[in-house]
Amino acid sequence: MDFVEVDDLKRLTVDRVARFMMYRGYKLPIGVLYKGERMSLLYGPRIVKIIEKNRKSLRYLHATYSGDKRFEVRYIHSGHINAVDLVAKTCSCRSWQLSGVPCGHVICSLESRGMSSDLMLYVSDC
Ligand SMILES: [Zn+2]
Repeated sequence: MDFVEVDDLKRLTVDRVARFMMYRGYKLPIGVLYKGERMSLLYGPRIVKIIEKNRKSLRYLHATYSGDKRFEVRYIHSGHINAVDLVAKTCSCRSWQLSGVPCGHVICSLESRGMSSDLMLYVSDC
């Protein structure tokens, strides 16, 4: 389990601390976590459903890391590319900015770097 610095804790809201601890500490596979009780305490079934739906597009996507937490996510068949920036929390499909829930491109990016346990840190607070 990762340790959290006191200064980091002060900066985070209670909700974020809960999420941070949960997703850093337990390191459960995401599919299991989404269906678990812990998950539903933090996010309603609507958000879980959207994420599960977005995950279905992963088999058509391939993410390439381009540095600074940025990715190019390509549709394998069409070659269409979406740009993901995890720092700015943007995706060029704009779904992430509009809904606050990571789109398939973001999920694909995180998984390509083994960061899928951080996914819930990228769900908007509101
Ligand atoms: Zn997207």
